[in-house]
Formats: sequence, C-alpha cells, structure tokens
Amino acid sequence: MSENLCPFIDKCPFFNILHSKGTEEALKIWYCKSEFVKCERYKLRLSEQEVPRNLWPNGKVLNF
Ligand code: SF4
Repeated sequence: MSENLCPFIDKCPFFNILHSKGTEEALKIWYCKSEFVKCERYKLRLSEQEVPRNLWPNGKVLNF
C-alpha cells in the first residue's frame, strides 16, 4: 500500500453519498491519495470519534 494512501479509502462511507464523480476524483487526489492526514474525517476516525456522514474532508458539514 502506498504510504500516501488513506488506510480508510476502501470503506470510507463519504463516497457512497457523494453523487459527483468529478468531485470524488478531485477529493481523492487532494486528500485520500496524498495528504489524507489533513482530512477531517480521517482525523476523527483515527481518534475513534463518530464521523458525521456529511462531514467533508475539508471539515465543512454540508447537505447534499
Ligand atoms: S475522505 Fe478522508 S477518511 Fe475518507 S478515504 Fe479520503 S482521506 Fe480517508
């Protein structure tokens, strides 16, 4: 596994509710496949806190 690949990428539920493939690909390039340590979802999950389903990697909580 690449050291720059988020260990949660295979089961990250965020991408199940995101309906824009373009946005998904961009987020994966910016976070999941590079600087995943900056992802707010990753940080919460790592600290074993509940991750809101609509929490974006940049920390914003938006409705879809
Ligand atoms: S959105 Fe965050 S937690 Fe989910 S796979 Fe990408 S970097 Fe990991």
